[in-house]
Amino acid sequence: MTTRNTKIVCTLGPATVEQRTVERLIESGMSVARLNASHGTTEDRAALVETVRAAGAAVGRSVAVMLDLPGPEIRTAPLDDPIELRAGTEIRFSEGETATPEAVGLSTSIAAAGPGDRVLLDDGRIETVVSRVEGETVVTEVESGGRLGGRKGVNVPGVDLGLEPVTEQDRQELALAADHDVDFVAASFVGSAADVYAVNEALEKHGADVPVVAKIERAGAVERLDGIVEAAYGVMVARGDLGVECPMETVPLVQKRIIQRCHAAGVPVITATEMLDSMTHARRPTRAEASDVANAVFDGTDAVMLSGETAVGDHPVRVVDAMATIVGAVEASDEYADRNEQDVPKPGRARTDVLARSARYLARDIDAAAIVAATESGYTALKAAKYRPDVPVVAVTPSRAVCRRLALSAGVVPQFAPLTEREKSTDVVIQNAVQTAVDAGIVDSGDSVVVLAGLMTDLEAANTTNMLKIHVAADIVAAGRSIVAGVATGPLFHAEHGDLTSVPDGSVLTLPTDFDDEFTGDPSALAGIVSGHKGVTGYSAIVARELGIPMVGGVGLGDLPSEATVTLDAERGVVYEGDITDTR
Ligand code: ATP
Ligand code: MG
Ligand code: MG
Repeated sequence: MTTRNTKIVCTLGPATVEQRTVERLIESGMSVARLNASHGTTEDRAALVETVRAAGAAVGRSVAVMLDLPGPEIRTAPLDDPIELRAGTEIRFSEGETATPEAVGLSTSIAAAGPGDRVLLDDGRIETVVSRVEGETVVTEVESGGRLGGRKGVNVPGVDLGLEPVTEQDRQELALAADHDVDFVAASFVGSAADVYAVNEALEKHGADVPVVAKIERAGAVERLDGIVEAAYGVMVARGDLGVECPMETVPLVQKRIIQRCHAAGVPVITATEMLDSMTHARRPTRAEASDVANAVFDGTDAVMLSGETAVGDHPVRVVDAMATIVGAVEASDEYADRNEQDVPKPGRARTDVLARSARYLARDIDAAAIVAATESGYTALKAAKYRPDVPVVAVTPSRAVCRRLALSAGVVPQFAPLTEREKSTDVVIQNAVQTAVDAGIVDSGDSVVVLAGLMTDLEAANTTNMLKIHVAADIVAAGRSIVAGVATGPLFHAEHGDLTSVPDGSVLTLPTDFDDEFTGDPSALAGIVSGHKGVTGYSAIVARELGIPMVGGVGLGDLPSEATVTLDAERGVVYEGDITDTR
């Protein structure tokens, strides 16, 4: 199984309403589906959430749903046909539902603007400058013109329009979020930590506890980044509006700064907007777009996002394939490995942080196949991922919601595993978690893994990870009873009779239940014996005891592979697949 570290977020829309299409997006690498509440209807979105759930179940992967709230945005009036706005002409902006080349209606008044302020339409493609304000009407002159479609975004950079951080429409969408158990709510145009808390609070009114992803798309938000990173579950570098609200040339630097800040704090961060924009119609990305995706991965983003490319594009699945290919190529490079090695965040003060950082180095130094994080709230897994180990963090959790949420974090392979035995012992938790990683095909029997556990006790409520352990993954293939204690490993040799002359030295011999022969040849060269018979007084049991050969009896020999190296833990009476002794 190949696992990619960096996750892919896809905006869903008219191009992706079919369940089969969503399944193919997941198969190609989508981990998070984004629904933009600025477009389409609430009913459509509700149906789409269910489609994503069904598609995830059909493919057998945890996929999160992120509902993106419009927030205090301003949009132009709806239009059936685009209109032409010409440079040098005068345009009057006021609240309204219609738009002509002389007067463009807006969803909200912008009368707080003053002469000299700039009013930008459609991601800044059309630029106007305010000449005067007449009551609620703002009169502007067009500086660079263009065609204006319906419901395009309006920006008035640097002007506080006094808009509420959570609008009436947002509240309606939050009801949908609560009813359909969405996994993330993205908050648009936040200006400060207080705006993030306002969304949390509105969610609480609906009895929902949904993590909030703060979209950084305003100059003020960049200035108050630290507070926002602390308040939000995750962050999005929303480059579309950011590049209009701030000088365009600052976007690349702000992107790096935000990712760096989030990385240091262990907060998942998404890089968004126009990543493969030309593929909305074209079959291949431009080289510059390929570089943009690659550089975001090098910057350390947790996820890269697709917008119109998947929502309304001609071939959404092809776009995800292209993105996954670019991400995969970067992550396979030495440059990427070096960068991760050189840029390990400083340890936080929490005990979990310190253990998680150690787990990263431990995994590297013992050449582990994975870090297995047993986690109830997701906290332990997020901490493990924060230090970007060069092996996957297999997050094993008994919560489906946590499993989906972790789909946003780089390097995390979330796995759902119910705690079958509610006996909350450390051993059960560890065995369960490692077995889940083996069953998922990420770890092979005999591989070393580093286990990090937020114990499933009251303690985890206090977010305490209190266990770090090197463990050898062992897949139990058969079990019986101990006849002669000890540990042995070697290739299986299935014997029909007692002639050992052709048995290679160091083999693990299996004897059928009705074996009643005597050995010829040298039994002392055997590593171990597995017998179908459970008796402790038979001929072979006596020989094994005399020679000190570990032996397990009463094993269903049909469970054993015909050819394989196995390890006997004859103390416990089990047979593992592979050699699990060398690192023990
Ligand atoms: P934001 O700035 O919040 O990203 P946006 O208007 O740029 O908003 P995106 O979500 O980035 O929108 O999507 C890109 C384009 O895809 C939109 O401009 C819109 O034309 C189209 N789109 C997205 N979702 C839908 C939808 N549900 N129905 C119709 N069109 C959609
Ligand atoms: Mg927006
Ligand atoms: Mg946009």
